[in-house]
Amino acid sequence: MLSIKNLHASVEEKDIIRGLNLEVKPGEVHAIMGPNGAGKSTLGYVLSGREGYSVSEGDATLNGKNLMEMEIEERAREGMFLAFQYPVEIPGVSNMEFMKESVNAIRQQRGEEALTAAEFLKKAKDACKQVQLPLDFLKRGVNEGFSGGEKKRNEIMQMILLEPSLCILDESDSGLDIDALQVVADGVNSQRDGKRSFVVITHYQRLLDYIKPDFVHILAEGKIVKSGDASLALEVEKSGYGFLGKKYEGET
Ligand code: ADP
Ligand code: MG
Ligand code: MG
Repeated sequence: MLSIKNLHASVEEKDIIRGLNLEVKPGEVHAIMGPNGAGKSTLGYVLSGREGYSVSEGDATLNGKNLMEMEIEERAREGMFLAFQYPVEIPGVSNMEFMKESVNAIRQQRGEEALTAAEFLKKAKDACKQVQLPLDFLKRGVNEGFSGGEKKRNEIMQMILLEPSLCILDESDSGLDIDALQVVADGVNSQRDGKRSFVVITHYQRLLDYIKPDFVHILAEGKIVKSGDASLALEVEKSGYGFLGKKYEGET
């Protein structure tokens, strides 16, 4: 599904991703952890097609297609959920209208029939309840005046409604409280169906108490330096990143 080989990427002429390899197969949940400044968020941005990031070597493919040559819309059409695509505030456009347009645009691209207003309303209400947002959030302007935790819940609601096949989430620096973390975890867990894949980028092991990843990767200095199963996250929580070398001693 997602295949990254020897990826090198830079921003502002600074090499940040330096020879990264990652294979994500359908249904797998991969967690990416690592010390501060390792390049975790950069990896998320490169995959989601954010402007300003250039790839100098290696490649990344989504369903066999060169990801770096795909427009953001194409990535979405191929089933990728871009968590950072919709954080903007759009005052005056209701969250519900916006989501209905987005969902139906993707359905159309996939050759599926558009949802009727009633069908969408039902799904939206269910998703809203699932992420524990009051139903009036559907009527409010997109992200207008939402708190950090509400934006996060809204993002997970979008993920649920868009039914993507590959979700890339960056929960590194979001300073989420435990309730919001649980909403993220519950959103991911409820969408796990043996086919849908997730890459969960996180600085903290805590999120992985709720999301049981199939694989855990440690990213340091732009590449994956260690991979394992869920127990690797526990090891890091217990012993920190000291095993990466002296300069990481004491970092957890
Ligand atoms: P992480 O998410 O793992 O903490 P980041 O991907 O945010 O790390 O950053 C990796 C490195 O790249 C850091 O040293 C950071 O300062 C640097 N970096 C990130 N974005 C930029 C930028 N726009 N310009 C210059 N350096 C950047
Ligand atoms: Mg950081
Ligand atoms: Mg980060």
